[in-house]
Amino acid sequence: MAPITKECDYLVIGGGSGGLASARRASGQWGAKTIAVESNRLGGTCVNVGCVPKKVTWNAATIAETLHEAKAYGFSIKETAPFDWKTFKHKRDAYVERLNGIYAKNLDNDHVEWLHGRAHLLSKNEAEVIFDDGSKETIRAKKILLATGGHPNVPKVPGSELGITSDGFFDLERRPEKVALVGAGYIAVEMAGMFHHLGSETHLFIRHDKFLRNFDPMIQDKIVSEYERQGIIIHRNSSQSKVEKHSENDGWLKLHYSDSETKSGTLDIDCLLWAIGRNPEVEDLGLEKAGVKQNERGQIIADEYQDTNVDGIYSLGDVCGKIELTPVAIAAGRQLANRLFGGPDFKSAKLDYTNIPSVVFAHPEVGSIGMTEPEAREKYGDNVKVYKTGFTAMYYAMMEPDEKAPSSYKLICAGAEKKVVGLHILGSGCSEMLQGFGVAVKMGATKKDFDSCVAIHPTSAEELVTLK
Ligand code: FAD
Ligand code: NDP
Repeated sequence: MAPITKECDYLVIGGGSGGLASARRASGQWGAKTIAVESNRLGGTCVNVGCVPKKVTWNAATIAETLHEAKAYGFSIKETAPFDWKTFKHKRDAYVERLNGIYAKNLDNDHVEWLHGRAHLLSKNEAEVIFDDGSKETIRAKKILLATGGHPNVPKVPGSELGITSDGFFDLERRPEKVALVGAGYIAVEMAGMFHHLGSETHLFIRHDKFLRNFDPMIQDKIVSEYERQGIIIHRNSSQSKVEKHSENDGWLKLHYSDSETKSGTLDIDCLLWAIGRNPEVEDLGLEKAGVKQNERGQIIADEYQDTNVDGIYSLGDVCGKIELTPVAIAAGRQLANRLFGGPDFKSAKLDYTNIPSVVFAHPEVGSIGMTEPEAREKYGDNVKVYKTGFTAMYYAMMEPDEKAPSSYKLICAGAEKKVVGLHILGSGCSEMLQGFGVAVKMGATKKDFDSCVAIHPTSAEELVTLK
């Protein structure tokens, strides 16, 4: 073991959304001597292989969609506008690199010492950092935060390593001609939408008959039928038995699968993407040396205060797997730093994990906060009133019937006062729309409160304040 070379109040392992937010709050606001260790690029999943490059690509796909639709508004646009994937990809990489630099600068501004290396626990208050050149440093800390995030899961199917994951999506130098995605959550749905609108023939393999199964049934039904209407090929009740390199077509793969229509089929593709969930990044983290407990999925167990079972060791974000979203990791990280270093005013600071809004950047977008209808009915029984509407946004007025995407909104109210306990929306513009409605739900708004807000016309959002 290397001798102790550094001591600090707060050691943060993992320089992603949660870790950096916590480190900066602890040092910048509360003056705690803080060291952050990151083995990869600053900013973690969100900045490098998650939200940021994904949203930029979603924007590109949305522009492709708009170009296609522009004809209906009288523009002379070619059927398929050429898209230079490679140039786009490199420009996106450069943007992410700029963000990496900004993150480093922000750490300096907040006096957080940043080490580029891989850390593991040696005990409950000591960790060793291994640097790229093999050198090591041992740090003693009064408190340690584990915010090491996660990585994509790949199934144990022969040849599965020939596929990529969401990480590999951001390395693609060219647009695949024909892509298969396996999975049914946020990533599979978002990436299928992006591939499709950027011009790849897109096959989505799901294990059941719908995707986004954690969402309200209305959302599941609408998004699945909308993806099919757009031309995404959905393989229901599917499984994959083997992946192999194509014998004749260099760079292509042969996927062996079964689905509800084909007992034993093969599909030739030039890209296979697994999006079947993520595992916590805990390998070699030394959890056992400090006695930190994990659940059956390997995720670190932390309570609502982000306390692990070991005094002085805390954890949050994707490595705990509670709600895997960037703003959740950031908010939990800041609250934890407030509680640990902010003095008596913050002694019970913690993140409220209820009513957290989230959006799936599908085509069209999906937004959700609060309970689904089945969850509300289970909790409140008959004391639930559901308001819903389906409509075609005015944007599509100029288009042919088969070119119109649907919008569907649902408000779930409970109790005599009809408190809004769930809000689920699908349609163009929903991602931006949800944040404001999220504030209302978080404040405990009732149906009456919604109705008392005068509509903004003509918008889609006005439908939510005029529901009958
Ligand atoms: P991370 O951001 O993953 O950070 C953990 C960091 O720890 C990593 O940088 C890792 O290199 C480092 N690390 C791990 N082990 C060690 C070690 N031993 N020593 C040193 N460093 C270590 N969320 C949203 O809210 N909106 C979105 O639109 C969205 N889109 C997404 C799209 C994709 C494709 C993916 C994969 C995720 C997306 N997410 C989105 C989820 C979001 O990115 C994560 O919830 C968030 O990044 C979690 O933050 P974290 O701090 O817990 O972990
Ligand atoms: P998710 O957990 O969202 O979804 C994965 C889904 O894939 C499972 O729910 C399951 O659905 C299906 N699945 C699991 N195993 C298999 C298998 N062997 N074969 C086929 N399908 C399988 O994981 P993601 O990887 O999509 O995303 C991880 C997390 O990252 C998300 O939960 C989200 O929190 C975050 N994220 C957030 C985004 C955003 O905010 N916009 C965007 C992207 C990610 P089923 O049971 O129906 O088969």
